[in-house]
Amino acid sequence: MLRTREKYHEDLFAMKPNVYIGGKRVGRDDHRLRPGINVLDLTFDLAQDPKWKGLATAVSPLTGGEINRWAHLPQNSRDLLQKQKLIRLAARRVGGCIQRCMGHDAVNALAVYTREVDEKKGTSYHQRFLDWLRDYQERDLDGCCAQTDSKGDRMKRPSEQPDPDAYVHIVEERKDGIVVSGFKMSITQVAYADEIIVIPTRALTAEDRDFAVAFSLPGDWEGISLVTRPVWLRDKDNPDASPFCRYGVSDSVVVFDNVFVPKERVFMCGEWEFGRRLALLFADSHRHSYSGCKPGVSDILCGTTALAAEANNIHKVAHVREKLSQYAGAAELAYAAGVAAAVFGEKTSSGVFFPNTIYANVGRRMTGELIYHEYNLLTEIAGGIAVTLPFEEDFHADKTRDLLKRFIVRNSNISADDSLKIWKLVENVGASPMAAWYEIAGVHGGGSPIMETIALNLEYDFESKKSLARYLAGINPDYDDLKDIGSEPVFSGDLLGG
Ligand SMILES: Cc1cc2nc3c(=O)[nH]c(=O)nc-3n(C[C@H](O)[C@H](O)[C@H](O)COP(=O)(O)OP(=O)(O)OC[C@H]3O[C@@H](n4cnc5c(N)ncnc54)[C@H](O)[C@@H]3O)c2cc1C
Repeated sequence: MLRTREKYHEDLFAMKPNVYIGGKRVGRDDHRLRPGINVLDLTFDLAQDPKWKGLATAVSPLTGGEINRWAHLPQNSRDLLQKQKLIRLAARRVGGCIQRCMGHDAVNALAVYTREVDEKKGTSYHQRFLDWLRDYQERDLDGCCAQTDSKGDRMKRPSEQPDPDAYVHIVEERKDGIVVSGFKMSITQVAYADEIIVIPTRALTAEDRDFAVAFSLPGDWEGISLVTRPVWLRDKDNPDASPFCRYGVSDSVVVFDNVFVPKERVFMCGEWEFGRRLALLFADSHRHSYSGCKPGVSDILCGTTALAAEANNIHKVAHVREKLSQYAGAAELAYAAGVAAAVFGEKTSSGVFFPNTIYANVGRRMTGELIYHEYNLLTEIAGGIAVTLPFEEDFHADKTRDLLKRFIVRNSNISADDSLKIWKLVENVGASPMAAWYEIAGVHGGGSPIMETIALNLEYDFESKKSLARYLAGINPDYDDLKDIGSEPVFSGDLLGG
């Protein structure tokens, strides 16, 4: 079944109220959550639209039916490319974060890890996970990923923390399941997700065994509370506001207070050796997802900057054109890194096709480094109006309307109404609570920049580069070019989905 937005709302608003905003318990129909729900709506709408069949949907090898791509396990390069394309498309429609990829990446990571842990330890997590996934796909559920623990003192390991709840951990193991407690933080869209998919956030040691835990639970499960911080734009409730104003986001602290997780929903229970692997599988899949969403954010910044240049009548000036070209570099290099990650990906033992981690990490690291620069380009070209523009109401009020209409026009080819719309967009894109959210998400989402550097230092083949240098220096006559160039891309049937 592909859920409609109406069915999604019906299911969502029937959930038990366990969301807290500003000190009060609220229902999931609270107006401050609506801008985020509007984003999720689009993800259901796209799957319903015949125009986007095959992009927003896929055929599940598990159920044989048509499912939402967000619940699909990638089978080949084409699936990864389709995901990337879908994220960029959807990000453009909602003005940025599409919020579905974290759950998708957690599902991928669990699919790969459960097979690997079974192979090494003789456990039976993979079949259990597939049983859970079948239901998830058939009911077209939306999951968020709760990876980031509150972490307490960053210099202490989970088992060394004075407060054990700094990381989600196993409190009790029973025959029929486990009991868990602890905090996850910065969890996007959990307040309007069906499921919370929990995975570890870091490498673990034997002493951290109780912190090696992965599972999935409905968002309103007994013992779970969400302390939520929604982000929205000033005009969110104005029916005449621009499309950009309809959308927002929310992040939550997820509190697990002695929560019982039934066995059939537990995917890791004490396998500390796999903490790092599962954390990285999520992170690498998510860094590949960024190669779709970050180009979408760059597209929005680029378009807004180009429009601001036109509204300022400076669009033909050389320095403006040079600055605009920098967006093309940021967006398309990030996108190209994602394409390369998809083409040079590999089949894991679970059957999931996984993106090449080097390309996923270099792309993600570059976008993290560039994010403030891209916002700076908008600021430089738009001028200071982004933070000094009077409220929209003043442009319609009897006393100020005529004056402000004259004030707002800087290019005689653009009407006062359109000029106002352009400068409102500049304010919303560049100097709003959402802008701050995107800047910080651009740096830390999918892991702080140092995490990509660590991943590259671990996985990049520096030895083969030294070997090349030795060959060129005349030290090593047996240099192996092929090893340095990397594996064969999967251009054939795989890329075409055959
Ligand atoms: C907008 C937004 C949305 C997010 N959505 C999600 C989500 O949906 N799900 C989810 O699971 N997470 C989510 N995150 C969390 C994100 O993954 C983390 O912010 C990121 O991993 C960094 O963790 P942190 O915020 O705790 O920062 P910290 O880990 O505190 O990092 C701060 C600095 O300290 C350094 N540091 C930390 N520990 C050490 C150490 N031991 N040694 C040396 N240096 C250290 C880091 O490198 C960094 O420079 C989101 C974050 C943001 C900003």
